[in-house]
Amino acid sequence: MALMTAQEYIESLRKLKTRVYMFGEKIENWVDHPMIRPSINCVAMTYALAQDPQYADLMTVKSSLTGRTVNRFTHLHQSTEDLINKVKMQRLLGQKTASCFQRCVGMDAFNAVFSSTYEIDEKYGTHYHENFKNFITMVQDNDLTVDGAMTDPKGDRSKAPSQQADPDMYVHVVERREDGIVVCGAKCHQTGSINSHWHIFMPTISMGEADKDWAVSFACPTDAEGMYMIYGRQSCDTRKMEEGASIDVGNAKFGGQEALVVLDHVFIPNEYIFLNGEYEFAGMIVERFAGYHRQSYGGCKVGVGDVVIGATALAAEYNGVEKASAVKDKLIEMTHLNETLYCCGIACSSQGFKTKAGNYQIDLLLANVCKQNVTRFPYEIVRLAEDVAGGLMVTMPSQKDFESGTVVGRNGETIGDICNKFFAAREGVSTEDRQRVMRFLENMCLGAAAVGYRTESMHGAGSPQAQRIMIARQGNIQGKKQFAKDIAGIQ
Ligand code: SF4
Ligand code: FE
Repeated sequence: MALMTAQEYIESLRKLKTRVYMFGEKIENWVDHPMIRPSINCVAMTYALAQDPQYADLMTVKSSLTGRTVNRFTHLHQSTEDLINKVKMQRLLGQKTASCFQRCVGMDAFNAVFSSTYEIDEKYGTHYHENFKNFITMVQDNDLTVDGAMTDPKGDRSKAPSQQADPDMYVHVVERREDGIVVCGAKCHQTGSINSHWHIFMPTISMGEADKDWAVSFACPTDAEGMYMIYGRQSCDTRKMEEGASIDVGNAKFGGQEALVVLDHVFIPNEYIFLNGEYEFAGMIVERFAGYHRQSYGGCKVGVGDVVIGATALAAEYNGVEKASAVKDKLIEMTHLNETLYCCGIACSSQGFKTKAGNYQIDLLLANVCKQNVTRFPYEIVRLAEDVAGGLMVTMPSQKDFESGTVVGRNGETIGDICNKFFAAREGVSTEDRQRVMRFLENMCLGAAAVGYRTESMHGAGSPQAQRIMIARQGNIQGKKQFAKDIAGIQ
């Protein structure tokens, strides 16, 4: 099958029997639900851009397995150039959606599981790599969106999976059969879960021998029997349900999506299992997946940052302050911070290396430095955006007020007339455009899209401390001590 169009992707979701719950109820037509649809549109953009000749080089690539043209989101990176192109593609998607476009988690899972299964098989003579190759070929040929599911609920953080009072705090095997396994558990704040065709589940921490039943990785269709999702809510999300509030929503077209994904006795046939008890490899999968996803943030967050900077510059222009040196300097600072993140994304890609399985892995230290910076710089970028834009982005009356015909003034002025009079700024700029840019900034800085830009910058791909642990491990302090000793003449 050829690459799917955006519309074909959206229609393909309707064929799934995915179980989605929101506000305590089952959602039957979740594809058209106003709160969910923007996140589907966002993933659809990964299909739309792949059809656009202008972006063909970035969005599509020859499969290393079949030689056929595939969407880069399903690709196994074959070079450092591929790794760099991945980051460039993510920046592009961020620029086009101003949101989290979700499809990267699957791409990062593919690459981590591909190389890890090779090494598990090498040690144990298992067939996980073959399983995975068959699976990824099916994904590439059908241009599927696959979610990479890693983060377990984790219960009491001081205890290992096998020590938890409730064994479901980590996804685990509850039954081993001749033809497969039965699994239970859940994954939290799972990006792009509902609108994926399949999921790849992976362990979330390193494990010991006692945790064997929790050391499990597998693929399963999103509408598998026993699997369901409870939709995560976002700041200002119900604005999407209001009539005539498309401006108030800020970004009516695109958005991200997170959910609690529950596995209630889901059967996984043998051919979709990639790890089953080889506990010492759990850490390898985690480290590789996290490394790729920390690289990803040097692309996607930079693309969204580009839009934040652009919107801030527009807000300044509409207010007539774009020539003020303080404003110019703040835009320079925002750009500097944003491009520093991009440097990190490109750097960890350019220093990538070939794994035993043949695909390319990023430089782990640099990828962790990249993500550590992402836990900080978008916060400063947002602070500067709010500084330049002004408080109106959070105090402005609603779109309905701007459009209201209710008379309030002595001379018959309507609420709409009054709002348009007092919120007018520079001549030649419509108050509606000013409303739009303010609400758009509100959406990205602290509304629904802030899930993908601000808080996700902190916790997505692992919280700051997780990167610091990796930086400590990869930082080679011993080697650095030796440099100092050699030069200082210390034996
Ligand atoms: Fe992709 Fe970024 Fe969203 Fe992760 S946070 S899925 S890298 S857009
Ligand atoms: Fe994320």
